[in-house]
Amino acid sequence: MKLTFWGTRGSIPAPGPHTYRVGGNTTCVEIETGTDDRIIIDAGTGMRQLGLKIAQEQVKPVLHLLLTHSHWDHLAGFSFFTPAFMAHIQLKVYGNLMAQDVIRRDIYERRDNRYYPVNMDVLRADCTFNNILPDPLVIAGVKISTLPLNHPGSGYAYRLEQAGKSVTFITDNEIGAGYNGGGHSPEQLVEFCRGTDVLIHDGQYLPEEIPSHKGWGHSSYDTVLDLAHSAGLKTVYLTHHDPERSDDQCDELLKSARAYIAEHKYKIDCYLAIEGDSITV
Ligand SMILES: [Zn+2]
Ligand SMILES: [Zn+2]
Repeated sequence: MKLTFWGTRGSIPAPGPHTYRVGGNTTCVEIETGTDDRIIIDAGTGMRQLGLKIAQEQVKPVLHLLLTHSHWDHLAGFSFFTPAFMAHIQLKVYGNLMAQDVIRRDIYERRDNRYYPVNMDVLRADCTFNNILPDPLVIAGVKISTLPLNHPGSGYAYRLEQAGKSVTFITDNEIGAGYNGGGHSPEQLVEFCRGTDVLIHDGQYLPEEIPSHKGWGHSSYDTVLDLAHSAGLKTVYLTHHDPERSDDQCDELLKSARAYIAEHKYKIDCYLAIEGDSITV
């Protein structure tokens, strides 16, 4: 699988001279499966650029959009996703039902101009919404399993496995927190991640920022690294970067994370998820 980050910023887009290296677009990840089926996780503003790329491809892939949850930073790119306006494109939407509902009701089926100058009846792709999410869901030989997030409003973490390789994507998750009616225990989280080749996890905060952001549904790098160590993982990417954090401050966060690894004698390689970067597993 080849995974490309099209957006790694959290909460709201943060373009500008201080964020251009890490990137200002919100969450969107593309997973190329080696077949005509393409998996996309989340429809944040990074989805616009991904759409432009797909529109130029000779053979149009079947698109499978997995939604983590309904917060706007994970959906705002859909209305500017060029393949959604193209006939003959197959777009299959899965995942969090509230997120699917927002896309269907407020974007796909909206026939007035309250949000956009263009009526959404020009969305011509063959779009299907899937209320039932099999566990596992299998797409093009990729086995996809889920875990409920510890995040206000709930949502899904996704683990993708193909040919003995795996990548686990967990954004908008507050490690150690629980929410009424959803979420997971610390043990369930460790088991969900165990043995994965690459863990991509929300690392929005510094440890010292957590007390003033408790209950906001995000994690600090130290808890992500403790999780990775408990699950025996070797490679971690931190994502959902705080919109207030400049490129230099993101570098500082990564430096602190690597110092934490050294201090605890963990055997983990830690990186920032950077817009435009790809990982092959
Ligand atoms: Zn978010
Ligand atoms: Zn969220």
